[in-house]
Amino acid sequence: MDADSRLGQSNEREARRAILTQFQVPHILAINGGSSSIKFALYSMSDPPERRMHGVIDRIGLDDTTLRCDDLSGSEVKCRAIGTLDHRAAATFLVDWLDKEIGLTSIAAVGHRIVNGGVQHSQAELFSDALMLELRRISAWAPEHLPAEIAMVDLIRERRPELLHVACFDSAFHREMPRVAKTMAIPRRLTAKGVERLGFHGLSFAFLMEELERKAGAEAARGRVILAHLGNGASLAAVRNGKSIDTSMGFTPAAGVPMSTRSGDLDPGLLWYLAQTEQMTAEQFNHMVNHQSGLLGVSDTSSDVRDLLGREAHDSRAAEAIAMFCYQIRKCIGGFAAALGGLDTLIFAGGIGENSPVIRTRICQELGFLGVELHEVRNDDGEQVISADASRVAVRVMHTDEEIMIAKSVRAIVQHSSRLPA
Ligand code: ADP
Repeated sequence: MDADSRLGQSNEREARRAILTQFQVPHILAINGGSSSIKFALYSMSDPPERRMHGVIDRIGLDDTTLRCDDLSGSEVKCRAIGTLDHRAAATFLVDWLDKEIGLTSIAAVGHRIVNGGVQHSQAELFSDALMLELRRISAWAPEHLPAEIAMVDLIRERRPELLHVACFDSAFHREMPRVAKTMAIPRRLTAKGVERLGFHGLSFAFLMEELERKAGAEAARGRVILAHLGNGASLAAVRNGKSIDTSMGFTPAAGVPMSTRSGDLDPGLLWYLAQTEQMTAEQFNHMVNHQSGLLGVSDTSSDVRDLLGREAHDSRAAEAIAMFCYQIRKCIGGFAAALGGLDTLIFAGGIGENSPVIRTRICQELGFLGVELHEVRNDDGEQVISADASRVAVRVMHTDEEIMIAKSVRAIVQHSSRLPA
């Protein structure tokens, strides 16, 4: 190690120390950036962290980007149009706004959801120069997410260089999946370079498993569980003994079940076919499978399940999109039940999973052979347990919370690093 690096490291350590001495006062900022939104939340450093504020910048890249946030008192919701902002502009807006609203000095550490941690990272960690380099190196793995996530870290570092930043990897939950589930049937030389099924939605899945244990006990959480996170992005995980043994997303979040605008699994021969017949480039193909497919592609009108349910009675394309969505998810549940050797608990979460009884019903129909039997009234009322008393499988609805998982990781890491020797 040269003198400059040593000096850099000792400066970093000094800065970290300085911030840790103010440990009692400041807060944790959790940032959860998606492809078209940035959610953010402020937490106390207590155990468990308590939420002080929560908000979202929505519709990034569209002409009506909005900021919504609850008041510092936790109840009132503020909403305002903020123009047409791309990701970089939205991130800058957020940092300026937070500085004005709460003062960046009230923050000690920032936790970032990092969608893709590649094959190396199985738990949250402090951002170091080496980690930044590594993420920049693999940013082509997740072009929809990683560049914007790295830019957010850079932006806050420019404004407050002394802050601690923690990377919370959305792929980490699946890192211990068995090789048989991780490996893709492609030449080994690519697998050796890290091309394998990574899986995502890990922060949400980890939260759902903690909640399952809290609500149904340790035995239920050690059982055979399928988690269905159904939002704009949708994926399922098969979990046994608390560990992910398979998941529907792959090397990228475009894989698995159809989503609002992502295709999910496709015939790999399609790329070549479209290149031949439509002169489609790889870039155009990537755009199509991420932004023009799924519910939007099949319905030809909307990516939003609410719109499509409202339209399905008189628009066969909307009906077909909804039917395809439910069918592929049901098929995935059947496949995961086979991987698990049966099923004890099925959990629905995400905007669709949490709010749409009719989608839950359509997914669960035909799953009686697995022991899934819904209770109509409980399902319509969105109760926590929506299965019938006689159902062999407990079916639950949960509100997921990725930001609290970020805050918990940040707290644990900050505490740990404060005990590290100089
Ligand atoms: P994201 O993946 O972007 O975080 P969410 O988990 O918030 O998205 O889910 C957003 C989706 O949830 C919307 O596109 C919409 O289709 C669906 N949704 C929300 N409320 C309902 C509802 N009451 N009925 C059906 N779908 C709903």
